[in-house]
Amino acid sequence: MGLVGGCSRCGGVVCYARRYSGESLCSSCFQASLFEKTRRTISKFGMLKHGERVGVAVSGGKDSLSLLKILHRLSRDNGTSLVAISVDEGVEGYRDEAIEHAASVAAELGVSHQTVSYKELFGFSLDEGLNWKADDQRDTSSCSFCGVFRRRAIDEVAARAGVSVVATAHNLDDYVQTFMMNLLHGDLSRLGWLDPSYVGDGFAIRRVKPFMEIYEEEIALFAYLAGMPFQSVSCPYMHEGLRTEVRDYLNRMEAEHPGMKNVLLRSSLDVISRYARDEGKAVIPCSSCGKPSSSGLCNVCRMKNTIGQHVNYPGSIRTVGDG
Ligand code: SF4
Ligand code: ZN
Repeated sequence: MGLVGGCSRCGGVVCYARRYSGESLCSSCFQASLFEKTRRTISKFGMLKHGERVGVAVSGGKDSLSLLKILHRLSRDNGTSLVAISVDEGVEGYRDEAIEHAASVAAELGVSHQTVSYKELFGFSLDEGLNWKADDQRDTSSCSFCGVFRRRAIDEVAARAGVSVVATAHNLDDYVQTFMMNLLHGDLSRLGWLDPSYVGDGFAIRRVKPFMEIYEEEIALFAYLAGMPFQSVSCPYMHEGLRTEVRDYLNRMEAEHPGMKNVLLRSSLDVISRYARDEGKAVIPCSSCGKPSSSGLCNVCRMKNTIGQHVNYPGSIRTVGDG
């Protein structure tokens, strides 16, 4: 990668070559470009309304800490107020560090921070839940099991925080990988989740992805340049299987054909806008907990049955800060 010459915008010392656009950027113009790209994505897809109270899902990883920082800066112009939301899944030796990072960055920015744990909400930690999972459910991956409860936990804490929308840090790489995986699994019914104007189903809180047009490597660089704390351990249950292969494939394609991920994003948006909007999926209240479901029993209650536990929420929410 040639970093010769000056920044395309100010002539300063180049720190990043954006191959798909041909720009070379210094640290400060690069960071400014991510604020600008995020602002444009929010505006293009009408993700946030002026003055809205926005929940930001902050796991404590580099992407979500960067999202919190960028949305905080943009909130001065779009009049939004932020609440950082963290979920403690209950994985010994893993999540505590990330939640400390989330709390310290939120405090630095003066943003209110709320944390909820699986234990408080559902009566078990992820460690316990995975241990208890019935033998015939062993093939449900840990992340699928975990994700069902995390989505519900975010909805719960967001509802209590009085937010109307939750921003998550999914980036362009996450987005196109998920799109490809849904295609490879023949799972088109899940494409609706990728719709950037997804408005929920009348029960759950609206989700938006302000980083969906930004490459993962650019967010990693932003986090580094902005001095975000990095997590030293990863989740022991992480098993990405097919996603790793899809990621490697897309990275190879991008290296040989700069901009290809952007093209795939545009194609996926086109497919989703035609497919997801026509789908008209019915939503039925869960017969057990009343939350949205497509079959009369929601995923949380279905998963709960696999470990013989009772969903035990609402639980107590720890609130820190007053942002
Ligand atoms: Fe849950 Fe998977 Fe994330 Fe671990 S890596 S916290 S199991 S979603
Ligand atoms: Zn239910």
